[in-house]
Amino acid sequence: MIKTTIVAAILLITSMAFSQTELQKDSLTIRSIYDMALLNGKSYDWLDHLSNEIGGRLSGSLEAERAVKYTKEELEKLGLDKVFLQPVMVPKWTRGIQEYAYIETGPGISSNVDICALGGSVPTTSGGLKANVIEVQGIEDLARYGKEQIQGKIVFYNRPMQANLIQTFEAYGGCVDQRYSGAEEAAKYGAVGVIVRSMNLRQDDLPHTGAMSYGDTPVNKRIPAAAISTNGANYLSSALKIQKNLGFYMNMNCKTWEDVQSYNVVGEITGSEFPNQYMVVGGHLDSWDLGDGSHDDGAGCVQSMEVLRLLKEINYKPKHTLRVVLFMNEENGLRGGNKYAEVAKQKNENHIFALESDSGGFTPRGFSFDTDDATFKKIEGWSSLFKPYLIHYFEKGGSGADIGPLKKDGITLAGLRPDSQRYFDYHHAANDVFEAVNKRELELGGATMASLIYLVDKYGLK
Ligand SMILES: [Zn+2]
Repeated sequence: MIKTTIVAAILLITSMAFSQTELQKDSLTIRSIYDMALLNGKSYDWLDHLSNEIGGRLSGSLEAERAVKYTKEELEKLGLDKVFLQPVMVPKWTRGIQEYAYIETGPGISSNVDICALGGSVPTTSGGLKANVIEVQGIEDLARYGKEQIQGKIVFYNRPMQANLIQTFEAYGGCVDQRYSGAEEAAKYGAVGVIVRSMNLRQDDLPHTGAMSYGDTPVNKRIPAAAISTNGANYLSSALKIQKNLGFYMNMNCKTWEDVQSYNVVGEITGSEFPNQYMVVGGHLDSWDLGDGSHDDGAGCVQSMEVLRLLKEINYKPKHTLRVVLFMNEENGLRGGNKYAEVAKQKNENHIFALESDSGGFTPRGFSFDTDDATFKKIEGWSSLFKPYLIHYFEKGGSGADIGPLKKDGITLAGLRPDSQRYFDYHHAANDVFEAVNKRELELGGATMASLIYLVDKYGLK
């Protein structure tokens, strides 16, 4: 009995000592990841090229094609085990010449306002569209006003993002239905066009574009849809209070073309112990066209590339196969994310973990995890290792749009969660440019992702 107790005590002490030294080892490894990222990082240079040499990367554009070529070449320079392109057909929509809009409050009395077509919108007729406006606070208002009050008018969706929500993505989620389905719903009541308040918590003159859908609205019933800046929305709203029957003029030249060939870009380090178990880290390579897509999602792409580079630089050899995936067409179709999951299923590739960065290149706070309770508990156990880097947010929740299609039993999905307070100042607008991204914040994000990937790879999730 005494013997068993002694043996048990020795075993306990040995295992404690073991976990103590392992913890020290992990903390040193993570320190070296952050050192490499902050002292000798590559992500900011990559982003500079993507943003300033290539520019906005709308699906199907020449810029998107150039971004595919560039990132593939850069990944090839890292000496990974495999770099390849995964073909995917994507939609092609172009904005055409810049949109033009004004509010007419009297004969010859008009003020220009800043609008931009929503991605996927039909154009106005070549002479533009002029109509009266009805302001609503959301799709649910349409039924209340009915056809009598909506027919022949432009519906102006003006529900703002809720400013008192700390998680700004929640505020976005609370009004993005106006942008996505606003035109489809308004057309049912005979509206001739749609204007949507930009999804922006700040007051400024920048219209923010974004995806929209006509659902199954027949082609000849589709109405043009544009975003208006928050300043423009407030101006229009106050003008309507004074003059209900003012005129709104909009002119848009956008066009949808045939689908075109594009690619997901994939780089891989083959696992040393479990080559048939895959871990993915990624972002989306396409962006909107108004800015150069630096935050959304150039940042996530270069951070994901940096994860593989950092692990290689510190000489870490992953046990599982580690892939960086730069997904095409997240913004207006999710074709890249769907294709990647489809091929993974076809090839019977066992994906155990996927991490996406698609919330901007701001100071990282932590991660959210789409997983079961036991796995989440295991991950939470690592959180103390992140404390020196001010990473504290470990919560269950969503992950990322592109990795969403990989969801199945047994896979853990995760999203990097940077500070979100300024994200919607830039999201899908002309100011989402390289200068809006801070080098250190971007690099901290990449290091934080690499550290999590290291821990998941080393300890597994089960
Ligand atoms: Zn994005």
